[in-house]
Amino acid sequence: MIIVIGINRFCAECGATDKPLYENFCDLCYWKYHTIAKPTMSRLGITVCIECYGVKLPLGWTYLNSVNDIPGEIANSAIKFLKANPEAHVDITNVGDVDWSNPKPEFDILYEISENIIEEFEPHQESVLLSIVLERGICKVCVSKKSGSASSVVQLRAKNRVLNVKEVNKYTEMALDISKDQLSENPTAYISDVIENHGGLDFYFGNQWTASNFISKLQRYIVGHKEKNFKLITEDKKGQRVYSITYLFRIPEIQPGDMIDYNNELFYVTHINNRFVSIKSMVDNSKAKVTDWKSLTVLRQTPVEVRKLVVSEDYNTNSYLLMDLTSYESEEISTKRFPAKLEIGSELTLLMWQEEYYLPL
Ligand SMILES: [Zn+2]
Ligand SMILES: [Zn+2]
Repeated sequence: MIIVIGINRFCAECGATDKPLYENFCDLCYWKYHTIAKPTMSRLGITVCIECYGVKLPLGWTYLNSVNDIPGEIANSAIKFLKANPEAHVDITNVGDVDWSNPKPEFDILYEISENIIEEFEPHQESVLLSIVLERGICKVCVSKKSGSASSVVQLRAKNRVLNVKEVNKYTEMALDISKDQLSENPTAYISDVIENHGGLDFYFGNQWTASNFISKLQRYIVGHKEKNFKLITEDKKGQRVYSITYLFRIPEIQPGDMIDYNNELFYVTHINNRFVSIKSMVDNSKAKVTDWKSLTVLRQTPVEVRKLVVSEDYNTNSYLLMDLTSYESEEISTKRFPAKLEIGSELTLLMWQEEYYLPL
């Protein structure tokens, strides 16, 4: 025998028996424990391009017809952050005003989310407030517009002289190689022009990143002086200044083969790398590495050629007797002043510099 007992259903929370129930809760109690939206944040930072007022929305940069469209567009695209039930209806009930004079303008968006999917209950509504902070930046399009202009220039110069043909070819090749390497990843890594200017070269790079890579490569190749200059390109309506970087790289005045004055003796440059200048003495072939390359200059006073006859060598005093072939005057010069043996009876052209004789290179 089966006894059927009628039981009045009641709300599991408040015990009410006179209300419609869903999952054992009445309307009021159910919405205490459930929401139709679960916002992932209450505050959202959005970047606005100071050049064109493009907006960086979750899906990427978006370009609008008017600055006034920005808040509404942000309100629309921020709906996804509310994580509302897909069945729910979302209304933007209020979008605050934007004070553009504020460096970081803020405004609030009020959403009203409603749903009518639980048949047992009356339609339900919730409000969500989202604060937006606008950050100023520059969009990709405006960045490439700028760097495509004459703004990312590397000026390569040699101190007190013009670049020689070998240098022009070498450095141009170096710049083109870097550009070629990066073009596959970055379409703005091009070089738009290489111009000979004031005895040096001006390289026009499509972006500043490639330009700074070129500078790094130069610094790994040769000692030089680097300057980084910030040039004002533009100032927008709100007084935001936009700068571009121009590099100057100055390589040494001296070159391999040049005679130089080093501690008041003649040396010549054998090699220059990215850390030092190698030099060799014209007296005894001794070598030195000079890291203070800026102190080395070409000779301000040019050596004078003189014709000499090597008359004899005195083994007691270790000296040569040299006779001048113009004045016929003779003098004794220490054998240590020359890196090689002088042949007795030979006629030589020597260099005279600051009262001393040197064997030419
Ligand atoms: Zn209840
Ligand atoms: Zn822009």
